[in-house]
Amino acid sequence: MARLSGRVCIVTGAAQGIGRAIGEALLDEGAKVCFADINGDKVAEVAEANRSRFADSVTSAQVDVTSRARVRAMIDHTVDSFGRLDVKFNNAGVNKPMNFMDVTEDNWNFIMGVNGLGCMIGMQEAARQMIAQGGGGKIVNTASIASRQGFDNVAPYCASKWAVVSLTQSGARDLAKHGITVTGFAPGVVATEMWEQVDQDLMAIGAAERPGQAMEEFSSEILKGRVAKPADITGTTTYLASADSDYMTGQIVMIDGGMTLV
Ligand code: NAD
Repeated sequence: MARLSGRVCIVTGAAQGIGRAIGEALLDEGAKVCFADINGDKVAEVAEANRSRFADSVTSAQVDVTSRARVRAMIDHTVDSFGRLDVKFNNAGVNKPMNFMDVTEDNWNFIMGVNGLGCMIGMQEAARQMIAQGGGGKIVNTASIASRQGFDNVAPYCASKWAVVSLTQSGARDLAKHGITVTGFAPGVVATEMWEQVDQDLMAIGAAERPGQAMEEFSSEILKGRVAKPADITGTTTYLASADSDYMTGQIVMIDGGMTLV
């Protein structure tokens, strides 16, 4: 039997990149999946692209993860569609590099808002639904190598991803009494549109001279010898959504090809 047969999951930031890959891997293992993203049209296309294979197991929702009302609406839509919520991936994230001394309040608030506050609201509202169902369930947060080291040019991003680690630990402690586990995973350098944008942004602030340079330099220490594809991440995310990880909580799994050894 498929490892996630009938398990109802939500993945945010699922219109592209890592989130889309997480959702599609969950479908492959028999889950029912709500793909959610601030880009409602694009995430609806992702759901549609999967409908021919997975028919009634797919839906989508437009959501801004910083809006508690929109997050509640996304969960209500999922429960209306599939009857319950078993696994919530808080994966939506943003980055906008700035030289450390140039970081502004707007840059900080934007990044901390989506990556930090968005993660906390997502955990709280998912847990509220799981508790109302009688407890149990899994929350999985997307951290980063930037959760383990501070890098120049992306200080608010690093702070926001350290926040994801502490939220994972705090949530695990608080929600254990309801049988809810909270885990996370920390990718290194994954070739997605986020990195294409970061590459351009680093050139714009003078931290790189040519396209691809920042990614090459940043990832030169990867023991596996190459950057990741989203498909390199999904073996672990499916595991974290499955019963195989039931005895894990409060932990972050590094998936960075050996870039950061902690
Ligand atoms: P991406 O930019 O390709 O995708 C992110 C998605 O999040 C987009 O579809 C975007 O529309 C959505 N999003 C942004 N703000 C949102 C909001 N307020 N509400 C809902 N959705 C919103 O990025 P990715 O590379 O797939 O990254 C996914 C996650 O993985 C992020 O949390 C990111 O920080 C993390 N991560 C990425 C890398 C990497 O190298 N790509 C490394 C470590 C961690």
